[in-house]
Amino acid sequence: MNLRIAKLGFAYPNGKQIFTEVDFSLKKGEIFTILGPNGAGKSTLLNCIGNLSEPTQGGIFLEKDNIKDLTLCQFAKRVAYVPQIHQPTYAFTVEEFVAMGRTPYLSAFKKLGHQDQRMIEEAMELVRITHLRSKAYTQISGGERQLVTIARAIAQEPDFILLDEPTAHLDFGNQIKTMKLVKKLSDRGYGIIMTTHNPDQVFFIGGRVGVLNRSGVFEIGVVDQYLSED
Ligand code: ADP
Ligand code: ADP
Repeated sequence: MNLRIAKLGFAYPNGKQIFTEVDFSLKKGEIFTILGPNGAGKSTLLNCIGNLSEPTQGGIFLEKDNIKDLTLCQFAKRVAYVPQIHQPTYAFTVEEFVAMGRTPYLSAFKKLGHQDQRMIEEAMELVRITHLRSKAYTQISGGERQLVTIARAIAQEPDFILLDEPTAHLDFGNQIKTMKLVKKLSDRGYGIIMTTHNPDQVFFIGGRVGVLNRSGVFEIGVVDQYLSED
């Protein structure tokens, strides 16, 4: 399975061009980091890749399919989006929150089957939050919420996981924990696209990086190559 971002450009309706010519592809098991300062357009780019907003140039392809031609359910089976954590308003337990990964874009009232329950357990175990399952989402810490949100994405059984600034709002210990988890996910075979404004994270994570600057220019580098140069 190949995710291809092809000559992507985006301008807001007010004419403000955020980026142009963003071009890369990703296979399962690979990590790609989008690095840039605040306001560069990282979220805007990730929203396009996550099918939450439509690019104004180019397209995004899963194998031969343009994602805009897929139904939301077809897309959700291949790509899971992990938004930044915000103040919670959800009246759900951790387990119920993770279970939403089994019913993306549908109702939360679908009856869960054996495969659903198995994936929910697997996701909670992989992220090590099983002990939190009966706690209210509103009563867990920010670091725990980030893990729960990632578990929801895993429960979706996607090929690719998109993470928008997964370490924002986390203390240093939780940042490290989250980065280790992201690496573990790629070792498990998920393709990962992550945004960050923190260059240190790119060195921790490795793989490829696309640097987006405030004038919308996008340049790709390989972290290991950089590190091996004197
Ligand atoms: P965050 O979710 O990280 O708080 P936003 O995506 O809401 O940030 O906004 C990011 C930046 O975009 C901010 O600098 C904000 O001022 C700017 N912004 C948000 N909406 C608009 C808009 N409609 N027009 C121009 N700039 C905007
Ligand atoms: P980042 O995630 O890198 O911080 P964003 O994608 O949130 O950046 O924002 C990129 C740019 O898009 C910002 O400079 C902001 O001013 C602009 N922007 C965000 N939302 C809007 C909007 N609705 N209309 C016009 N410009 C916007």
